[in-house]
Amino acid sequence: PSSVETLEFQAETRQLLRLVIHSIYSNKDIFLRELISNASDALDKLRLESLTGSLAEVDTSDLHISLEVDRDARTLTVRDNGIGMTRDDLVELIGTIAKSGTAGLLEKIKDSKDAATAESLIGQFGVGFYSAFMVADKVAMRTRRAGTDSGTRWESDGEGSYTIQDDQDLPVGTSVTLHLKPADSEDGLADYLSESKIRQIVKRYSDFIRWPIRMASDRTDADGETTSELDTLNSMKALWARSRSEVTEDEYNEFYQQISHDWLPPAETIHMRAEGTFEYEALLFIPSQAPFDLYSRESKSGVQLYVKRVFIMDDCEALMPNYLRFVKGVVDAHDLSLNVSRELLQHDRQIQGVRRRLVKKVLAAVKDMQAKDAERYTKVWAQFGRALKEGLIEDTDNTEALLELVSAASTHDPEKTTTLRQYVERMKDGQDTIYYLTGETRAMVENSPHMEAFTAKGFEVLILTDPIDEVWVDQVPAFDGHRLQSIAKGQIDLDETADGEKETDAHRAQREEDLAALLTWLTTALSDHIKQVRVSSRLTTSAACIVGDAHDVTPTLEKMYRAMGQ
Ligand code: ADP
Ligand code: MG
Repeated sequence: PSSVETLEFQAETRQLLRLVIHSIYSNKDIFLRELISNASDALDKLRLESLTGSLAEVDTSDLHISLEVDRDARTLTVRDNGIGMTRDDLVELIGTIAKSGTAGLLEKIKDSKDAATAESLIGQFGVGFYSAFMVADKVAMRTRRAGTDSGTRWESDGEGSYTIQDDQDLPVGTSVTLHLKPADSEDGLADYLSESKIRQIVKRYSDFIRWPIRMASDRTDADGETTSELDTLNSMKALWARSRSEVTEDEYNEFYQQISHDWLPPAETIHMRAEGTFEYEALLFIPSQAPFDLYSRESKSGVQLYVKRVFIMDDCEALMPNYLRFVKGVVDAHDLSLNVSRELLQHDRQIQGVRRRLVKKVLAAVKDMQAKDAERYTKVWAQFGRALKEGLIEDTDNTEALLELVSAASTHDPEKTTTLRQYVERMKDGQDTIYYLTGETRAMVENSPHMEAFTAKGFEVLILTDPIDEVWVDQVPAFDGHRLQSIAKGQIDLDETADGEKETDAHRAQREEDLAALLTWLTTALSDHIKQVRVSSRLTTSAACIVGDAHDVTPTLEKMYRAMGQ
């Protein structure tokens, strides 16, 4: 027997485990979904490698997941004959958390005021394998990587450390054995040794898993003979391949929750089928809540690629532009090789066509929501607006469609945001520019001296306080023929559009002459800081304000660049 090695969990893993064990009450059943999903991924990987790669000699004729209950030992085992893990994989994949932003999220969870908030934050994280420790006080994992001769055994009580040792006689694949805590309804712990409970959870959370999930069940026949039979618990239906009329909303929601690991139903479901030269089916979802790491550098695309029902890859960035990385779902293409690589996909013209079509569909769905269900649209915009605004920078093909979706605060109504379309409808007679002012907070923007003349003359100004606003407003030439103009930049002649009392050139020249001495003195005194001092008709109560050049970087943007280290 080989020696047992004891290793410490990484500090963040330890913290997360403690939170998982002590802060989740209402959703403990999902541990099984997580373990089954890992098993299913492992089967996908093995099949794909056997079809395309180095593992051609592996037997893949009976890939499946099995659930085994041992009432005496009080254990539940989830077993798969998938790809398995090496010892190094185990230490790396199970002992550490690689997701960036983890530390920040953990802090947020610790600081959260109530249990429900903590739970929903953990839900956004996706606890994965660690969820086993919600229901078990000891977890043992035995695993052997396909193509290697021997396996490894991993064990932990979820506290500070785990043990790891060689295990010679293991089949290829992985088994996870949970030593279950006693059922305790107050603590949200069901009896996970109960066959009916297990069936119920699998039906609810894992029905669409495309590998059989089997469990032995005892049957007593008429003669009183008891035999044990293997049942397949899941239906394994590829939901996206069915026609829309055959799928219920519940089925869509459950499918979404299975692939996204989200705890909430999606905000929108998009199901489509393309026929013709390049056939595919797509089932896409807009979540109702953004994941915590949506804006971190490593945030990945949420679309899975299948080829004729065979899973090919997660995070297929070729199918969805970066700014739509929050969209989850499945695309099943019929005419691709199983051997496609990410590289190839990026340059495949047909895939590019699919992507264009999917983007249009997603944007149209949000637009539709805006028209038909304003409340849902507002929520979606609050969660994903920032990402959609990245689209205004990245995706010039869809500028028009994206601009239709933009919502922003405005001087029109302190409580409500406005769309650009609504702004345009309210524009004064003769006004043909959309005015905006950027800044760090609404209060700062509202109190800016630039605002005075605009408020006094009754022009509506958009209040843009999101750092990314600085960038897109610069790139977007116009909305519906109306230029977007910062009221802090360049020369704006308000009188041109305002009614009455237009300042004549003669009048202005007179004022400039009156103030000539002051202007010269100010220009000299401030010469290190400014380019020019001008007489303005912008101000009503403030004596002076600083105006940027039309092409200057604004202070907020300057700060943003500095924060990004540029
Ligand atoms: P995720 O599935 O989101 O990556 P998990 O915590 O569920 O996160 O699992 C971590 C990793 O451990 C997986 O990505 C996978 O590489 C590995 N793993 C977990 N369970 C299995 C399994 N049954 N077979 C093979 N690898 C597994
Ligand atoms: Mg997982």
